Amino acid sequence: MPEDAAMEDVETFAFQAEIAQLMSLIINTFYSNKEIFLRELISNSSDALDKVRYESLTDPSKLESGKELYIKIIPDKNERSLTIIDTGVGMTKADLVNNLGTIAKSGTKAFMEALQAGADISMIGQFGVGFYSAYLVADRVVVTSKHNDDEQYTWESAAGGSFTIRPNKEEPLQRGTRITLYLKEDQTEYLEERRIKEVVKKHSQFIGYPIKLMVEKERDKQVPDDDEEDKEGEEKKEDEKTDAPKVEDVGADEDADKDVVKAKKFKTVKEKYIDDEELNKTKPLWTRNPDDISQEEYGEFYRSLSNDWEDHLAIKHFSVEGQLEFRALLFVPRRAPFDLFENRKQKNKIKLYVRRVFIMDNCEELIPEYLNFITGVVDSEDLPLNISREMLQQNKILKVIRKNLVKKAMELFEELVEEKESFKKFYDNFSKNIKLGIHEDSTNRKKLAEFLRFYTSASGDEMSSLKDYVSRMKENQKQIYYITGENREAVANSAFVERVKKGGFEVVYMIDPIDEYCIQQLKEYDGKQLVSVTKEGLELPEDEDEKKKLEEQKTKVRKLVQGCKGHLGQAC
Ligand code: ADP
Repeated sequence: MPEDAAMEDVETFAFQAEIAQLMSLIINTFYSNKEIFLRELISNSSDALDKVRYESLTDPSKLESGKELYIKIIPDKNERSLTIIDTGVGMTKADLVNNLGTIAKSGTKAFMEALQAGADISMIGQFGVGFYSAYLVADRVVVTSKHNDDEQYTWESAAGGSFTIRPNKEEPLQRGTRITLYLKEDQTEYLEERRIKEVVKKHSQFIGYPIKLMVEKERDKQVPDDDEEDKEGEEKKEDEKTDAPKVEDVGADEDADKDVVKAKKFKTVKEKYIDDEELNKTKPLWTRNPDDISQEEYGEFYRSLSNDWEDHLAIKHFSVEGQLEFRALLFVPRRAPFDLFENRKQKNKIKLYVRRVFIMDNCEELIPEYLNFITGVVDSEDLPLNISREMLQQNKILKVIRKNLVKKAMELFEELVEEKESFKKFYDNFSKNIKLGIHEDSTNRKKLAEFLRFYTSASGDEMSSLKDYVSRMKENQKQIYYITGENREAVANSAFVERVKKGGFEVVYMIDPIDEYCIQQLKEYDGKQLVSVTKEGLELPEDEDEKKKLEEQKTKVRKLVQGCKGHLGQAC
């Protein structure tokens, strides 16, 4: 029971069942890569800072509770605790209750299922439950938070199915959150300056707010040396006895000493003091010249941006200049997120900056929905800093940026086509997005159709592009034949397909449910109409050879008849 709150102020809550399950899984699973907890907590802090900064753009008074936006890490060896403080938006009492334990998230279950299927704990951030990774290293976690709209409250839990909430007026935060992890006995490495620096550099160097580490330093201090003359010999002994700081003789200027009166004698002692060291001074990656950026750096940046545990599949780093100016980094991930098509209003993953200042996540006007798997950053030179979501809807600059982003995304996919394995991976994960795009984006429909791949009656186990299909079309074939259905087997055995195949033509198998939706809009490819083989009254072009043979036969018969007629005439 916390000591600093009256008993009646402390409320106890049960964790939502799946969250409790997840926590015991995190605590009990043997897992060595525990360092990722720091990345998750720093990422939460960064999100909270983003939120308050965004709110302040339209309402500057939000920052009256503190203008400086930062993250601070404080190791405390005496207490065996690690504290992470941010001056972000903070959490109200209700937020603490809801966000840290009672409201179920789809990611909780999905993450546990993924773990069972062999996923790694470091993937936790992708499932939106990163906070609980604190229990990889801590057996007790205390979260104190101050939101502009509420008093300061403290959340605390040593897992075990429940947490407490209490008002807390002690050590008031102006605004933001302080998370203290009481580390497990065997996790004290995270109190070491060197280790913390290493982990932050590895996982969080691209966070857009200063991450400060409280470090203990030593410096020389000049102190009056009263008894320097008569106690010189005894000094050493004293040192040994009291374990006092090492004393060095000033002795820099022996000659000057002679002229100075005794009282002015000084000695130098080592003094310990506390200082903040900024750990992430890296310039924003997108502002640098692409030629100077290594693939490793892009990978690290992508991972910190996306919470992904793997590097990206493809990247486009570009700038646009002229009437308007912006820089952007677009990444294609290796996998679709677990909830890509869970609900139609999936958020996009592009962060909007204006002149290096983060403005917002998920700006819907920035990229069409079908490209919401692309992760990236856009930094505009032209938009006003205090732009609100409402203003964005009408904004012309944003429309131009969007057009350019789509264009660059198309280029990126085109580049991917060149690398067979990568493109296959891309298509396995994002073909639905391409098809959705065909339905929705009439401007780019033609381009997107180039990325489609299907099994066909002639493709075997490799999927075929429509372009390849067309290259195999017979001379007399004017249309592209397709069939929609459940799976390859079912469509391959259809009587409709049989008939078309018999005629010597290839049939495209559209076996993804979204294909029907896609085909509603994609009516033709390369000037050739797409026609369903199940269409009533479908006429197939006759084969040229067949046609010739038929003609020859007809001519023969005609001649025969005429001949007959002649004989008959003579006979009559
Ligand atoms: P996610 O951050 O992916 O939503 P988490 O489990 O890491 O999932 O965090 C749950 C929620 O708790 C966050 O969405 C946020 O609302 C809140 N939260 C966590 N850390 C902080 C923080 N430092 N400041 C403000 N809110 C926070």
